[in-house]
Amino acid sequence: MEKERSKFQAILQCKCPRCRKGDVFVNSAISLSFAKTHRNCSVCNLKYERILGFFWSAMYVSYAFAVLHMLILMVTISVLTEERPALWVFFVSILGSFMLFVPLYFRYSRVIVLYLLGGINYSSNPKVWEEEGE
Ligand SMILES: [Zn+2]
Repeated sequence: MEKERSKFQAILQCKCPRCRKGDVFVNSAISLSFAKTHRNCSVCNLKYERILGFFWSAMYVSYAFAVLHMLILMVTISVLTEERPALWVFFVSILGSFMLFVPLYFRYSRVIVLYLLGGINYSSNPKVWEEEGE
């Protein structure tokens, strides 16, 4: 029998917030269509987009990721270089590295919003899921 994931593991693996088994995304993060999200969980049939435009709120989380990314990189560049580098060095390194992280930020911001704001009953009892009518 499969060992149950912790909530943290389920978030890291982008699993359904209710059953923690079904995938939230159709493809892997390194795929060109990394953003394609399942409508429902393949295991417990939970509808991921709770209301129309639910995932728009994920932009706030991805904005926080972007600011944190920028701050960490700016501090790292400043610490590693003795002289103050030209502005284009910051710009190119931040923008270039950020592009690599876009799929991860996109996916984790959606999953975090799903876990925080989904209003989902996390009961491990499948009978409770059926009573919700989902
Ligand atoms: Zn599920």
